[in-house]
Amino acid sequence: MSEVGKCLYLHDLTWPEVKAALPQVKLAIIPVGSTEQHGPHATFEMDTAGSREFSKLLGERLYPHALVTPPVQIGVSSHHMRFPGTITLQPETLIAVLMDVVRSLHAHGIRRFFFANGHGGNSAVLTIVTNRIRHELGCLAAWATVPYDAVSDVYDEHVKSPVNGHSCEGEVSVMLHLYPRAIRKDALTPGKIVGEVQARIDKWPWVAEGRFFDEGTENGALGDATKATPEIGKALVETGLDRIAEYLRDFMER
Ligand SMILES: [Zn+2]
Repeated sequence: MSEVGKCLYLHDLTWPEVKAALPQVKLAIIPVGSTEQHGPHATFEMDTAGSREFSKLLGERLYPHALVTPPVQIGVSSHHMRFPGTITLQPETLIAVLMDVVRSLHAHGIRRFFFANGHGGNSAVLTIVTNRIRHELGCLAAWATVPYDAVSDVYDEHVKSPVNGHSCEGEVSVMLHLYPRAIRKDALTPGKIVGEVQARIDKWPWVAEGRFFDEGTENGALGDATKATPEIGKALVETGLDRIAEYLRDFMER
């Protein structure tokens, strides 16, 4: 079904090429990233590049049935605003942007949408948007944070440092495999976790409290990125591609 190395990535195509491809396209894959700090050892492109590169590999596996759009490069990152450089959209703005992207693709005949999310702060918006697409446009829509949501078992097997989730052993490993230019290998540093805040999270894990990110980690990173390896990243990415492509093949046939 797939042809090695071929992907319908919109920014690499002309309109006659898109027109020729559309009769076989059953699905749009929309990478959604962020432009936010990732500690002292990773660039602002981290989430955007991760979701984009993963989506392109997914597009290869599903060729010629998936059209991969350029990434939405700015997400909901208000919790990172105390770190210089971070840019955030209001949740309402991201909802509007994603709905406009979907309405545009819908006008070209696409009826199934998968958001390949690269940033946890976008989660609430993606739940709202996928429901809205289903309920108001009548199309199928889904989202997952890639590859992590699909590979928690593989993650637990390989990633051993505590308090992961941002520029950590797991995420840095994935980027060492997918897009190493986002990582400053000579600056890899463990997260400087704020003990008293982490103790409250550990004691009451069932409540969701609004926080700024520097309240939980002084340097903006979690976990221990010094333990990251491209081999761990490859295991997470390859298993994630297998599982998400299998899901999307079913999704495309519905
Ligand atoms: Zn990230």
